[in-house]
Amino acid sequence: MRNATGDSPPRSAVYNIGMDESSSLSPLFCDRCSRELHPGRGDFYVVRIEALADPTPPEFTQEDLERDHCAEFARLCETLQNLSEREALEQVFRRLTIFLCNACYAQWIENPAG
Ligand SMILES: [Zn+2]
Repeated sequence: MRNATGDSPPRSAVYNIGMDESSSLSPLFCDRCSRELHPGRGDFYVVRIEALADPTPPEFTQEDLERDHCAEFARLCETLQNLSEREALEQVFRRLTIFLCNACYAQWIENPAG
């Protein structure tokens, strides 16, 4: 008698396409429509997203230079103390890996910023 997983790959099969720690175990699902994805059948895309806060060095105005640097530094330190290391990092850098079925990918790639 077949179980509920049908012909899905065994749970022990590790889905690993040489990526990073965000690779996941099967079964996989489309992050948009939740359709089950089948590694090895070519029915999905892996989309990696990196978001980086503006890396350009800041521009300083005369007004900036006239500020009380010590007070400004103390204010920044106080702000950072209320953040965890992860929260502080996520303000400047995020990396995501999402899985999209072929249909969702075809829609998304035409307007990824939409
Ligand atoms: Zn989908």
